[in-house]
Amino acid sequence: PFDVLVVGGGPAGAAAAIYAARKGIRTGIAAERFGGQVLDTMAIENFISVSHTEGPKLAAALEQHVRDYEVDIMNLQRASKLVPAGADGLIEVQLENGASLKSRSVVLSTGARWRQMGVPGEAEYRNKGVAYCPHCDGPLFKGKRVAVIGGGNSGVEAAIDLAGIVSHVTLIEFDGQLRADEVLQRKLRSLPNVEVIVSALSTEVLGDGQKVTGLVYTDRVGGDSHRIELEGIFVQIGLLPNTEWLKGTVELSPRGEIIIDDRGQTSVPGVFAAGDATTVPYKQIVIAMGAGSTAALSAFDHLIRSSAP
Ligand code: FAD
Repeated sequence: PFDVLVVGGGPAGAAAAIYAARKGIRTGIAAERFGGQVLDTMAIENFISVSHTEGPKLAAALEQHVRDYEVDIMNLQRASKLVPAGADGLIEVQLENGASLKSRSVVLSTGARWRQMGVPGEAEYRNKGVAYCPHCDGPLFKGKRVAVIGGGNSGVEAAIDLAGIVSHVTLIEFDGQLRADEVLQRKLRSLPNVEVIVSALSTEVLGDGQKVTGLVYTDRVGGDSHRIELEGIFVQIGLLPNTEWLKGTVELSPRGEIIIDDRGQTSVPGVFAAGDATTVPYKQIVIAMGAGSTAALSAFDHLIRSSAP
């Protein structure tokens, strides 16, 4: 069995594996796709101490750093079930391929995925004007016109944030009214360069083959179709944690995030968690790495306090 088994190979999982392996304990990492969301990212300019890098480059560096240590890397493996420790003190992680892994402690770092609009042009222009993370990509649209899709807290926060960087923001909400907290809505309405459109269904992302040029939406009341000229579209309709497989075993928040304390401990003894899959307030690479390191150190602390050798 492993001492620490990490499930998920994004920045959180890679950091956890390195911190665990550096303690000289048996460490494994199982990941559906090593690199995680970083693989889908183009420019990264907020990975502190590195002015600019690209997703695939950072993902390769993550894997190389893990390979510097004696870590059992199991790539292209999807976990389907977690079984808490029984009398033998071993936690079991079952894989979709039928295999099962046992470990004295586990770090869950299965990340999250952005909910997509699912309209023509969205996938084609991803990273070419279609963006999901205002903290990451906001500055790329300095002085340009953008839309934010979604009038919940994250959409309205994104619109307020972007209004300070871009020339104009159009916030598009499907419902007849915004769902964000009133204090955020007041702040939003006070901004001169933000327009809010409610009862609007986004139907298409327009582009010139290279980058985004516009957005088409249908007015759900009148039924007519409108077109906005712009350079960027931030989709803020939800971040879905990859935790479906943990339902009923590990305590999850109403949004499906793994509930952790400030040491990364979950509701299951010996099981820790880190990164975008958890209740951590901000979802970023540096934050996921810090959280992965925390979880691995907590797992080590758990091991030296438990009786088995
Ligand atoms: P993830 O990166 O999501 O990794 C999850 C890992 O778990 C993957 O290996 C996945 O395959 C695996 N996994 C999932 N389910 C299972 C399962 N059941 N069994 C086994 N493995 C599983 N952040 C920044 O700081 N700066 C940026 O510029 C930036 N730009 C971004 C651009 C885009 C387009 C996107 C999508 C995100 C961006 N982010 C950025 C956010 C950043 O990528 C995430 O915060 C970070 O990757 C989270 O790391 P993580 O390890 O928690 O999860």
